[in-house]
Amino acid sequence: MGCDVSAVQRITVLGATGSIGLSTLDVIARHPERYQVFALSGYSRIDELLALCVQHRPAYAVVPNGESAARLRAALAAAGSSTEVLEGEAGLCAIASAPEVDAVMAAIVGAAGLRPTLAAVEAGKKVLLANKEALVMSGALFMDAVRQSGAVLLPIDSEHNAIFQCLPADYGRGLNQVGVRRILLTASGGPFRETPQAGLADVTPEQACAHPNWSMGRKISVDSASMMNKGLELIEACWLFDAAPAKVEVVVHPQSVIHSLVDYVDGSVLAQLGNPDMRTPIANALAWPERIDSGVAPLDLFAIARLDFQAPDALRFPCLRLARQAAEAGNSAPAVLNAANEIAVEAFLERRIRFPEIAGMIEQVLEQEPVVPLPSLEAVFAADQRARELSREWLRRHGR
Ligand code: NAD
Ligand code: MG
Repeated sequence: MGCDVSAVQRITVLGATGSIGLSTLDVIARHPERYQVFALSGYSRIDELLALCVQHRPAYAVVPNGESAARLRAALAAAGSSTEVLEGEAGLCAIASAPEVDAVMAAIVGAAGLRPTLAAVEAGKKVLLANKEALVMSGALFMDAVRQSGAVLLPIDSEHNAIFQCLPADYGRGLNQVGVRRILLTASGGPFRETPQAGLADVTPEQACAHPNWSMGRKISVDSASMMNKGLELIEACWLFDAAPAKVEVVVHPQSVIHSLVDYVDGSVLAQLGNPDMRTPIANALAWPERIDSGVAPLDLFAIARLDFQAPDALRFPCLRLARQAAEAGNSAPAVLNAANEIAVEAFLERRIRFPEIAGMIEQVLEQEPVVPLPSLEAVFAADQRARELSREWLRRHGR
């Protein structure tokens, strides 16, 4: 079987230079008999993308514009590489939907990943979804596209991958039908889990990005610190598993060893455990329904010794409440929440706003922007743009 050339899967990695992209390439490189890299994309780290092209020899690489394309083409030619360079969103959509591609890792951060991820879905690919913002923005359209194209959607977010592993294969019949009482979404609590409310006003981007358990990109690190990440994940879980928001409970679990749990009506609670290393969910989704080595060390329960659980603190982490409200309001509310959050996180990373203002700004934008249905991708992007404009207005009003 291992020598059967037709069994080799060709993979596109969108966001190859990021934290998830690099972990994906690490797993792929462990199994050359199973996986071959078809295409990679990068955004600002062109030198890193060049090194990845030399190592993984993709047919295509995608960069944001003509200038970076010229630079990468020259460097590839000097390195004797035959990788072809494409540009912009059109290039991303092309490598996501090319007929040669078997699976697409969607690991671009934020709204920028929506069109290419949807292109992979519409082309009926196996889609490994890390880009949670894409699903949060366009949940109804996204899941409709999955059903229509027959794409196989596999969650990469460690919590959702854990839930997926703890659910029966026929969960698509409905959570009630398969006896699920609740989904328990675990959260590490982030770097400020024990920081008193008053101390949060002075935390820096460096402190916010220093996550105790996971090494991740800067945007998701700030989201973890504000617990907006768990809020986005709540919305993500509702779409992936067709769950009402009230069926998803957040449990703070500081060790990040249990990646989430499913509570059944008979009192059984199934959990998935593992070291906090994204190569486990990546390997799980890549090989599903088989299992392959991910390079992750075996879990040492004696070293971990104990597992703790707490209720989230709604006062210190208002983003969680805002996300739950957006999940309940549905329609455009999650897209507005996501867009305002992207602008707020960027402003916080640029030291233009303080940490507690992230939630303050998002709350005001949500109050200003009416909740409307999003029947098309154009409507999704219109809501996204309106929320970004209101967020920038907030920054101007506050002199930032
Ligand atoms: P990262 O910042 O390390 O990488 C982001 C990638 O997206 C990079 O390859 C970058 O080149 C690309 N990119 C950024 N802006 C872009 C744009 N405008 N257009 C095209 N490409 C662009 O982020 P990450 O930590 O790897 O996270 C990626 C996604 O995976 C996010 O949606 C995040 O929420 C999700 N995720 C990450 C982790 C993790 O452990 N890092 C865990 C769960 C989910
Ligand atoms: Mg997660």
